[in-house]
Amino acid sequence: MSVAEVIKYGDPHLRNVCSEVDDFKILPEIVSQMYDTMYEESGIGLAANQIGIDLNLFIIDITHTDEADGPSEFVNGKIMDSRGEATFSEGCLSIPGVEFEIMRPEFVTLQYQKLDGTKHTTEFDGLYARAIQHEIDHLNGKMIIDHVSAITRLRYKSQLKEIKEAAETRNFNSAKTNTSARL
Ligand SMILES: [Zn+2]
Repeated sequence: MSVAEVIKYGDPHLRNVCSEVDDFKILPEIVSQMYDTMYEESGIGLAANQIGIDLNLFIIDITHTDEADGPSEFVNGKIMDSRGEATFSEGCLSIPGVEFEIMRPEFVTLQYQKLDGTKHTTEFDGLYARAIQHEIDHLNGKMIIDHVSAITRLRYKSQLKEIKEAAETRNFNSAKTNTSARL
């Protein structure tokens, strides 16, 4: 087990646009650490920059639903197309204790590579599409907070300030919640 610290809102890593992966040999070790960290935090998705690694890489495990047979890794992911609309409550391991209702496309077509470098283009829907969009946002330096209105942000102002200050001082003990969509 190798659990990394999940970087919190306020840390500049979360605002970086991640670089494309070209050395696939380094991935197994990073991915293994990402899984250990995600499971430790009871998340269903994690982007590499959430543990301070600015690479276009994320993992998803939604095997608690019947949408997926197993956990999956996505390298150099890029959303090529999207359609439909759905609203769903999203939490984020980098913004503990906060959830927002976020409207996103219901279906997305993702171009990506697997850990062995093979290229794929697949359409996803449901929780899978939701999680993919959340993680792709992370890799582009975007977070759920960027999807909500100024009024909603204002309502969470003190909570966000607290998380941000904790991230800045790096003395933060991650809050545990029981939501099913922590990503
Ligand atoms: Zn997140």
